[in-house]
Amino acid sequence: MGLLNNAFPDNALTRTVDEAIGWGRKSSVWPMTFGIACCAIEMMAVYAATFDLDRFGAGVPRATPRQSDLIIVPGTVNAKMAVRVKRLYDQMAEPRYVIAMGACVCGGGPYVKWGYNTVKGVHKIIPVDIFVPGCPPRPEALIDGILKLREKIGRNDVFRRRQEAKEQMSAAYEA
Ligand code: SF4
Repeated sequence: MGLLNNAFPDNALTRTVDEAIGWGRKSSVWPMTFGIACCAIEMMAVYAATFDLDRFGAGVPRATPRQSDLIIVPGTVNAKMAVRVKRLYDQMAEPRYVIAMGACVCGGGPYVKWGYNTVKGVHKIIPVDIFVPGCPPRPEALIDGILKLREKIGRNDVFRRRQEAKEQMSAAYEA
């Protein structure tokens, strides 16, 4: 489906197709079953009945990266874990989305000064679409992040940004 995006010049028909694809994607985001540290406890609450992520079509965490299009990174990523996070991301099919949950993955959090083994921001390993700050963020904050991601997916912003980044990288490589 990714090949269809922006494959034709903008006009009424292709714009409608883009919007329909975006609507379908944002209405059925499949997050990966994945958690690292304390923030993951709040993430689990979001999947449970009280907060009910099913309302937004994202309440079915998948057990494999190959069936997931969203990875929420909740917790402290250390140098050893960074390799695993990157590998999981690489195994997801495009289009794929990333939410950084918590101060640790947004920029190091409480470990920013003395955490010699902590990656100071997961965006140094994989591209992040939404940052949700907090230590830990409340479930409502994560839901807000998911709603903002849905808006971006609906507008096809995520794909456009990645496409532009790819084109810039190829132009820089050829230069
Ligand atoms: S941000 Fe706070 S709650 Fe979340 S993993 Fe780091 S230390 Fe734990």
